Amino acid sequence: MSNHDRAKNRNLLIVDDEPNTVSSLRRDLQSQGYNIFSAYSGNAGLEVLETHDIGVVLADQRMPKMDGITFLEGVRERKPDVVRIILTAYGSLENAMAAINRLQIFGYLTKPWSSEGVRGTIARAFDHFNLALENRRMTEALKKANEQGEATNRELMATNRQLKDAIIQAEEMASKAEAANDAKTEFLANMSHEIRTPINGVIGMSGLLLDTELTSGQRQYAEAISASADSLLTVINDILDYSKIEAGKLDLEIMDFDLRMTVEDVMGVLALGAVKKGLELVLLIQHDVPALVKGDPGRLRQVLMNLVNNAIKFTEKGEVVIRVTVDEEDDKEATIRFEVSDTGIGIPVNRLGRLFQPFTQVDGSTTRKYGGTGLGLVISKDLTQMLGGHIGVKSEEGKGSAFWFTATLEKQGQGREVKVVPEEIRGKRILVVDDNATNRLVLREQLRSWYCHSDEAQGGAVALDKLRQAVAEGGPFDIAILDVQMPEMDGETLGRKIKEDPDLEGTILVMLTSVAEPGGAARTKEIGFAAYLTKPVKGSELFDCLTTVVGRKAVGKDMSRETLVTRHSIAEDRKRKIRILVAEDNMVNQKVALHMLKNFGYRADAVANGHEAIKALETAPYDLVLMDVQMPEMDGLEATARIRNPQSAVRNHGVPIVAVTAHAMKGDKERCLEAGMDDYTPKPIEPAELLEKVKRWTTIEGDLSKNAGSQDHPMS
Ligand code: ADP
Repeated sequence: MSNHDRAKNRNLLIVDDEPNTVSSLRRDLQSQGYNIFSAYSGNAGLEVLETHDIGVVLADQRMPKMDGITFLEGVRERKPDVVRIILTAYGSLENAMAAINRLQIFGYLTKPWSSEGVRGTIARAFDHFNLALENRRMTEALKKANEQGEATNRELMATNRQLKDAIIQAEEMASKAEAANDAKTEFLANMSHEIRTPINGVIGMSGLLLDTELTSGQRQYAEAISASADSLLTVINDILDYSKIEAGKLDLEIMDFDLRMTVEDVMGVLALGAVKKGLELVLLIQHDVPALVKGDPGRLRQVLMNLVNNAIKFTEKGEVVIRVTVDEEDDKEATIRFEVSDTGIGIPVNRLGRLFQPFTQVDGSTTRKYGGTGLGLVISKDLTQMLGGHIGVKSEEGKGSAFWFTATLEKQGQGREVKVVPEEIRGKRILVVDDNATNRLVLREQLRSWYCHSDEAQGGAVALDKLRQAVAEGGPFDIAILDVQMPEMDGETLGRKIKEDPDLEGTILVMLTSVAEPGGAARTKEIGFAAYLTKPVKGSELFDCLTTVVGRKAVGKDMSRETLVTRHSIAEDRKRKIRILVAEDNMVNQKVALHMLKNFGYRADAVANGHEAIKALETAPYDLVLMDVQMPEMDGLEATARIRNPQSAVRNHGVPIVAVTAHAMKGDKERCLEAGMDDYTPKPIEPAELLEKVKRWTTIEGDLSKNAGSQDHPMS
């Protein structure tokens, strides 16, 4: 029997007063697998019914005391599900019919019965009972399931409501948080602005103070004020940047720029710090690195500054080398790799992992010894990610570190960049004399990009040999670039020997020095050098120097009567032509701006409002306007509109205008640009930023003048 069958009821109750009938039915039906219960009277039958789980009842109609019909009525009352069958004499059937219908009796058997008829009827009766039972069970189960479902549903709905509430709450919290975040960023921007304004006053004014006659004690105090203000500004800039990045509020400013110039600028700014520590600062830009690219030069510069600054900070002796190479390149973009390696204190292996986490410094005590916020590398990491690159470090404790990062930059224009190399230096033969191999490599890379033929010598003796041999072979060197500090024979001695040799006299001499010592330039000129440059030499500077000296010789000038070409003369040449107008109503700010520009070597005039600015632009040809936005009488926006208006009498309607505004927030920049300005710089003006803007918009690349190094603010 299967489980299913076992679940079926097979209990049959037979009620008849005649024992023979009962026993004969029992025998027959027992053989069919039914469990037979029996009773000889209606009352006894009802008792069995109460105590057993009976499925079908078979009752004789004619019984004494209680007849079959009455008995079945009782069954129906007590157990309506039990299936009822009546056993009746054939002749009485008609009488029984009414009762059969009334009591919903399932079927009847007539006496005498056939075994088949009984078996069939009983089987159908049990089928009926079991089916009804099954139905009831199913209904029951369904009902239960429904009830449970409802409960589950109710639970679900409740959960849903809770969820909705939670979402609303979360949204409220998020918008509150966002508002709080906005408020925080705004607060930070405002606060940093508020702090930067007075600091800049301190920096600017202590700069002015240092330019005056001071006793040595006073000078010391003023320098201390200046240095402290510088480092305070660095910390504030770090915190501002970090919080902007945190809040996702730092945007890249994508523009066309010259990658080589940007990198060289960083070197120029930081060179002084390296020289002061006696470090060799070397820049090597591989010749295939594209110059004209598109990206955010300010942010790129910031990362590079930070790494180079750290390298100088954590190195006591040796060199800091910056290598710029191409990692990957296609027609549209190039991934550039910048590597800054030093020979400094290095970083223990177990500390490398934590370097790029906020406020971490390798050694707590370095904070006191070296200063810094521990934010520089974190900011650098975020910035390189924004620039589409990565950052990393290799280091060995006590030996030095090599930090690197990559940035993906779009190339300008569709086609390849066209390099214009003036004829005067193309194909020139140049000998590079330096004991430092890296320096020789750097110079030769630069010369190669200008299509010069170069050779090298690591010392004076070899150099003389090569120079003489070239003359003997009929292809003398046009130029020799000599390093001043060399072990066996220094640059001055070598220069003298070259000039003493009539065969070599025609070779133009260029001197390179790491430290500009007093009287060095004069001595160099006396020996017969045409140029005297300080390392690190920027590519553009060397280029200008070489074209100048070659040009002079070509027109037959007497070299000994010409002024020596130096970094300053080159910068001055470039800057001499540039004129800048500063429109600013605040006298202190005006003074600070003029002072900075003067220090950078530019000519600048100042006016106090928009009206005056327009008047000035009508009378003189300016190359750049630094325009304060808020000014009395006529503000910067209106003045710009007039300048741009072709009907106005301004001489150059297209003069670059850089807005200078007090608000460091986002919308201001857009307003200025909409008004027709070209660029934007926040107030208070920072020297490094001002210089960058001036260079960018005057296109003639200038250089830092003698005071500029100390005026610049490293950003890390
Ligand atoms: P900080 O403002 O302190 O310089 P950074 O994030 O720039 O912050 O640097 C974090 C720390 O990493 C530094 O304090 C220093 O301990 C270590 N570090 C960074 N650069 C160098 C390096 N070139 N040589 C040795 N240690 C370095």
